[in-house]
Amino acid sequence: MSEAQPFVRFDKVQKSYDGEILVVKNLNLDIPAGEFVTMLGPSGSGKTTCLMMLAGFEPATHGEIFLGDQPINNVPPHKRGIGMVFQNYALFPHMSVGENLAFPLEVRGMDKSERETKVKRALDMVELGAFGNRMPAQLSGGQQQRVAVARALVFEPELILMDEPLGALDKQLREQMQYEIKHIHESLGVTVVYVTHDQSEALTMSDRIAVFNDGVIQQLSSPSDLYERPDNSFVAQFIGENNRFDGTILSVRNGKCKVKLDSGETVDASAVNVGGKGTRTTLSLRPERIEINPKSKAGRSIISGKIEEAIYLGDHIRTRMSAGGSSEFIVKVPNTSGHTPLEEGKTVKIGWLTGDCRALDPIA
Ligand code: ADP
Ligand code: MG
Repeated sequence: MSEAQPFVRFDKVQKSYDGEILVVKNLNLDIPAGEFVTMLGPSGSGKTTCLMMLAGFEPATHGEIFLGDQPINNVPPHKRGIGMVFQNYALFPHMSVGENLAFPLEVRGMDKSERETKVKRALDMVELGAFGNRMPAQLSGGQQQRVAVARALVFEPELILMDEPLGALDKQLREQMQYEIKHIHESLGVTVVYVTHDQSEALTMSDRIAVFNDGVIQQLSSPSDLYERPDNSFVAQFIGENNRFDGTILSVRNGKCKVKLDSGETVDASAVNVGGKGTRTTLSLRPERIEINPKSKAGRSIISGKIEEAIYLGDHIRTRMSAGGSSEFIVKVPNTSGHTPLEEGKTVKIGWLTGDCRALDPIA
């Protein structure tokens, strides 16, 4: 396989279950070997369907999926050499942990001594080396999920698929397992395609995230790019906290635009996903990028805002304002000594650097 060639490729893949509605629409996605890619999106956006097509449990309606340089549409699931972990981990209840792990190796015709070595290695990897003789019912939920991960790893697949594998665990365990899976990925160099609807899970674990909505990848980017450089209003709203406010384009030039807000004020923004003069746009601006009473005007847009509510949160003061035509304008004011007092009812100037405000497709 050459460097340029992806390990997993979705090539114009479509899926319809009923022959009418496309739940996956013309999906193109290239994943290089060794990458951790997450499919993130709301429920029903087509993530599981994509994973099922890659695993071979659902046929694609149109298009082709490649593994290495091989088209795999006609390769049955057990011949794809893919490890899988799902939310309901479904260990065989009548088999010990060790037997659960040995099973996929037995199916592949591996002899006993090699099986034992591999089972031991996989259990050590998830820190359950001493648990081989336990029955699944004698394990906690988190331990069972670790066994499921070990079972997916045991035959040393080059590709592992995980669909909401931590969904059944409580928050603390879920966060711990996120790091464990991430570390396993790093130490093995295996390719992982992971599905979740939880954005913080996706941001924690992934090299790249494909944000899904309505069967379409809205953006495929690194976690920091998704947050800092959303391509469209859906991604800006879906990832992290976002201020959105609406206006009309006055002019577009050199990647920047002037926008007349519905409040009547005029601001500058990065022209990311906009039409021409006179068209509507929705601006996106993160709450931590806004200054109250900015000391400098250079490179900034400045409007006025009325402080509606200021909530003290220790490291910052979360301030809700009426500004730019929105009454839900959130500003995170760092709790530094000498910051502007945030009196409710008071009107202040608020400003931001032009590059931090992105003019996107109109929501309204
Ligand atoms: P996600 O994993 O993002 O929640 P899914 O891939 O499960 O989304 O579902 C995408 C769409 O396909 C949804 O509208 C869902 O109802 C539909 N769907 C999923 N599986 C089936 C199936 N086996 N038969 C018919 N419709 C399905
Ligand atoms: Mg799903």
